[in-house]
Amino acid sequence: MTGRVVQRRALLGAALLTGVGAVAGCGRQSDLNGAVGPAPADGGGGSTAPPVASIPAQRLPEGTGSGPTPADWRALAESIAGTVIRPGDPRYPTAHQLFDPVYDSVLPAAVVECVRPADVGVTLGFGQRFGLPLVGRSGGHSYIGASTTHGGIMIDVRPIAKIAFEPGHVARIGSGAELGAVYKALGAEGRVIPAGSCPSVGIAGLALGGGLSLANRAFGLTCDVIEQVQVVTADGQIRIANADQNPELFWACRGGGGGTLGVVTAFWFKTEASPLIGTFRAEWAWSNAAKVLRGWQRFIEESSDEVWADLLLQANPDGSQSATVFGLTTDNDPAPQLARLLRTVGRDPVSSSYTLNRRFGPSGTDQRTVFYAGTDILGNPLPEAGIDAVVAAMNKAAASRLAATAIWDPLGGAVGRLAVDATAFPWRKSFASIQWYATRGRATAQAARDWIDAGHRAVATWAVGGYVNYLEADRTNGALYFDGNVERLRAAKAKYDPKDVFKLPYTL
Ligand SMILES: Cc1cc2nc3c(=O)[nH]c(=O)nc-3n(C[C@H](O)[C@H](O)[C@H](O)COP(=O)(O)OP(=O)(O)OC[C@H]3O[C@@H](n4cnc5c(N)ncnc54)[C@H](O)[C@@H]3O)c2cc1C
Repeated sequence: MTGRVVQRRALLGAALLTGVGAVAGCGRQSDLNGAVGPAPADGGGGSTAPPVASIPAQRLPEGTGSGPTPADWRALAESIAGTVIRPGDPRYPTAHQLFDPVYDSVLPAAVVECVRPADVGVTLGFGQRFGLPLVGRSGGHSYIGASTTHGGIMIDVRPIAKIAFEPGHVARIGSGAELGAVYKALGAEGRVIPAGSCPSVGIAGLALGGGLSLANRAFGLTCDVIEQVQVVTADGQIRIANADQNPELFWACRGGGGGTLGVVTAFWFKTEASPLIGTFRAEWAWSNAAKVLRGWQRFIEESSDEVWADLLLQANPDGSQSATVFGLTTDNDPAPQLARLLRTVGRDPVSSSYTLNRRFGPSGTDQRTVFYAGTDILGNPLPEAGIDAVVAAMNKAAASRLAATAIWDPLGGAVGRLAVDATAFPWRKSFASIQWYATRGRATAQAARDWIDAGHRAVATWAVGGYVNYLEADRTNGALYFDGNVERLRAAKAKYDPKDVFKLPYTL
């Protein structure tokens, strides 16, 4: 299979807009002209058997020293309204899975499906009593498998997924809700929040880490529209955090990343009236790649907040390459934006088009996919030397026969209107994020990792950090993800999880 691999939230382009015929997105192979077909688990080429995950051993919290007996597990099951699923239970093989099949080999001692916040509190107490690792699990899309645990307890909040409206166009959303359900419920009321792409991504992980989306420049990050959260902290207490109550917990829950402070059970989001959107796209031959990258950067710098556009530099397993911009404007008038983009790039595209009257929404399918990814945040547009280095890194991917995409998402607009310390998300004043995203194509997993490293090296001089929702297991420096906000985040962690029950060695 040699079709262009179009992946992740940027390939999303069309994917996030309901009613758009050209669907791309989660676990799909597609081209942006609309041909959509299922992707092999490996993204094409190599073996479809998932590789085995490598997750660092977790230090256990202090506990009794002996594990729970079958009677202890039964007692836990009887003390909660939810369900305890242990190895041997016919539901276990699917209950413990995350989105990426690479983590199927990670076997929790139990998956506890919680139906109410009190279940979370009881499970936290049980786990600490026996010294078991404890991790929250919502949508299961963690890049590094942080929502599963060898021999510990996966606290699965997916059953807590109710979505209801409260006065003032505020939506109360259970932390187990997936984005598909969120868009659907809000859309039924003509409302929307700036959220991500794939329908099965969890609102919890997305919002806690920030939340990049096509609506960022118009409405801000997902975390920017959180008004309040309900969190079960390590001591089992169910806390409300907002601007007045537990304000440091509230601050940390907006961009500080999931899995470190407590288990969120509900979010209250300020919603926006869902606008009609015009979209545009243009694709250029690879020989124009440097000009497209330069032009896209200028296009974004000169855009108003209604305009968002991402850039996909793509290498395919057959060695072909392309450069594509997908954009939208919330004034539903895309033709002038497309014309401006083409003028700014200054080269004829191989194809271009625009559509009217779309709305923000999810699309694509939820097919589980083995993938490799990394991220860099750029403080400013890349200079010529950086552009050349990126084009060289993409050429390397094509030579390796990888399916690899560098996905450039603009920041700015409403994201940049908040101060860098307004929430834990630190990249308010930065220019863009680059996601280095690969499946194996016809290459090896090591080739994919090598290419991501090459991408990091290509922009190292200009990169200012990484995005916590695109965590990398071998880049574990908290300042890399939180910049100047890291100490305040550590202080919040020390206050609400003083015994470090929620261990996420990658960030804090
Ligand atoms: C296919 C795909 C598409 C994506 N698209 C986008 C996108 O458009 N925009 C974007 O910004 N990111 C995107 N991401 C990245 C995504 O935001 C992160 O992977 C995010 O962490 C996923 O959240 P989750 O709830 O699905 O994951 P999970 O794996 O369930 O959780 C992620 C982390 O949060 C913790 N956690 C889970 N539930 C809770 C809870 N209730 N309370 C506290 N901590 C919890 C987990 O322990 C883990 O550390 C995408 C990822 C994938 C795989």
